[in-house]
Amino acid sequence: DTSHGPILYLDDITVSFDGFRALNKLTLTIDVGELRCIIGPNGAGKTTMMDVITGKTRPDSGTAFFGQTIDLTRLSEPEIATAGIGRKFQKPTVFEPLSVFENLELAMKTDKRARHSLRAKLNSEARDRIAEMLARINLFDSAARLAGELSHGQKQWLEIGMLLMQEPQLLLLDEPVAGMTDHETAKTAELFVSLAGSHSLVVVEHDMDFVERLGGKVTVLHEGSVLAEGPLAEVQQDERVIEVYLGR
Ligand code: ADP
Repeated sequence: DTSHGPILYLDDITVSFDGFRALNKLTLTIDVGELRCIIGPNGAGKTTMMDVITGKTRPDSGTAFFGQTIDLTRLSEPEIATAGIGRKFQKPTVFEPLSVFENLELAMKTDKRARHSLRAKLNSEARDRIAEMLARINLFDSAARLAGELSHGQKQWLEIGMLLMQEPQLLLLDEPVAGMTDHETAKTAELFVSLAGSHSLVVVEHDMDFVERLGGKVTVLHEGSVLAEGPLAEVQQDERVIEVYLGR
């Protein structure tokens, strides 16, 4: 049951690689419906944190809960995906020889909780769901185009749409606007803001203009733990954050 309390609760998480602590007693709480940005210099532990949440990396110690009851440290990657955590890596992965519509159709049919079989013809409810998603990800007019013909930004939107077809409660996104045009970046910010509330989002991002557009709370990671947390304008004023970004 994820309807009360935080959607994600990491407490005192430590991950070591050959004695080096990529995460060092990391504690982080994400509320239901929150849109959180994670920033921090290279090597801060952002990817390792995402790997712990998705079960790719087991912490040496600490607690990781999805909702009240799901202990992420005890589940496999596929079990965590099925439980409702969707992850988007930086590079878009769509099926280029298929149309935009077919990509979304496939994503819906491969949903592990699927009510649709791969071979079944789409009913009108399923077609409506795909049409709604096409509109949501700004690809309504591109439904019949091959995914391989889309711009980089459009491919990113399509992949986000494919993730959303699986109805995750928590979405993890790694630098989603890297390589996007300004217009695509603005559209992506609108999409994420519209998803917040009904979804919880954790966005790892280097683009501070994008982070500003998203609003909400920002967590600054440094050397595997939380250095600062709060609105962007606030953390940007933090002396320790400035020092970490400008170098010593
Ligand atoms: P970020 O995503 O913030 O750049 P990472 O989580 O990728 O940071 O890395 C944190 C630190 O852990 C880095 O110093 C990195 O070199 C190290 N690290 C990450 N994964 C491994 C691994 N599989 N083996 C050894 N060291 C790793």
